[in-house]
Amino acid sequence: MPPSHTNPLSVSASKDTLEVYNTLTRRLERFAPAHPPKVTIYACGPTVYNHVHIGNWFAFIFNDVVVRWMRELGYDVEFVMNVTDVDDKIIRDSQALGEDRAAFTERWAKVFFDGLKALGAAPANHYPRATDHVFGHDGADGMVEMIQALLDRGHAYLAGDGSIYYRVSSFDTYGQLAGLDMEQLQAGASGRVSADEYDKDTVADFALWKSYVPEDGDVAWDATFTIDGEARLVKGRPGWHIECSVMSSALLGQEIDLHMGGEDLIFPHHQNEIAQSEAATGHRPFVRYWMHNRHLLVDGQKMSKSKGNFYTLNDVVEHAGPEGARAFRYLAVQSHYRSQMDFSWRGIDAAKKTLANLDEAYARMQAHAAGAAPSTWTDEATGAFAAAMNADFNTSGALAVVQTVVGDAGSAIAKGTLTPEDAAAGATFLEMVDRALGLHLGQSQQVALTPEQQALLDARDAARAAKDWAESDRLRDALAAEGIAVKDGKDGQTVSYL
Ligand SMILES: [Zn+2]
Repeated sequence: MPPSHTNPLSVSASKDTLEVYNTLTRRLERFAPAHPPKVTIYACGPTVYNHVHIGNWFAFIFNDVVVRWMRELGYDVEFVMNVTDVDDKIIRDSQALGEDRAAFTERWAKVFFDGLKALGAAPANHYPRATDHVFGHDGADGMVEMIQALLDRGHAYLAGDGSIYYRVSSFDTYGQLAGLDMEQLQAGASGRVSADEYDKDTVADFALWKSYVPEDGDVAWDATFTIDGEARLVKGRPGWHIECSVMSSALLGQEIDLHMGGEDLIFPHHQNEIAQSEAATGHRPFVRYWMHNRHLLVDGQKMSKSKGNFYTLNDVVEHAGPEGARAFRYLAVQSHYRSQMDFSWRGIDAAKKTLANLDEAYARMQAHAAGAAPSTWTDEATGAFAAAMNADFNTSGALAVVQTVVGDAGSAIAKGTLTPEDAAAGATFLEMVDRALGLHLGQSQQVALTPEQQALLDARDAARAAKDWAESDRLRDALAAEGIAVKDGKDGQTVSYL
């Protein structure tokens, strides 16, 4: 879809009515960034050690819609999504394969970025890697410097096991984001936890810097901390929580407007980010608005490996073809982020059909407009769409407005009453919808092969015709290494993004 140069929204009016549900205060609040028109946004990105499951993709699509809509409202958005490339799971899985941490995480980061592209996400301004921020550089503190600040201010200590922990009882509002009772918390906060993930029942001092153990292999940094006036070399690695506190302040400053993530990150991850950032800098708030999307269900059930309903984007593309990623995006946008999205194959099939109808409607409106200037025909719909989006990103309500416009246009075209100017207005409206929701209307998600990739595909076709299965497999692997999946069907080879 070509970019539109006209912004059909009444920008100032729309900006002023945006409301978001803030997890910290547990209520709807009018969104007011610290330094408009600038808006700084941070979303916790993937831990790159495996395929991202559809539950996480749901979160990343929600992040993308928020960023897109803020931009549509005229905000100057700076969006950071981190890539966690060191943590407990990465060390466990890369060691099991005997693969170097850096190579292992780069491989999975590429799979992630290919998926993000297939889902039509607008690129973030920065995708920082955790391991690039262990030590500070370019005037920004790293993890080692932030941990030192926490030690200096009495919020951290070196424990008997050689690791440095955050002292939870030293932070007066600990538990606020997660809605934890402070008294209960103090009773439970006597122990220590070195694992990156734990639940609310095991609140404890958490690891900021984990002292080296042989299982870490060569994943370690030599950091020197000043503890009780004495320089101490502590070979080790950062905990997961400190990574996001450091990357957000390094790229966006001490106070950010909006922080997003899935509801599973509220505790302990985001609670710990607040405790670290506010205690280290002394600046409150670290984050003005916290937004969390709910978990996705599969056929009404929680997704889990044991139930066999643990799907990745590959599964969706395998089921629905190259349009699968786009259909998944439509299905995700159809649910409000704070309600539970219920994923089903029936839902994917229906979304695919709806998208095909929208593509067709857009093409018809463009053809009917034949270059005419847009009338005011969709002004009301534009207002209704904006009102839905501004009501805490009610994307399902916004899509209902889109369906009304498409239905009205269809019947008006059938009756011969739609003027070219009205059709132009309809097309302009759909272009605005597309920028906001990233549905990529009128653009199929066909894989764009480079000439070299096409040559590999052709060679594989020839190898298969000659029944040279070894060569055919070799070429399939070569394409897979470039992020292209090949499937053999009765009509020959079909390709999709991995
Ligand atoms: Zn994070």
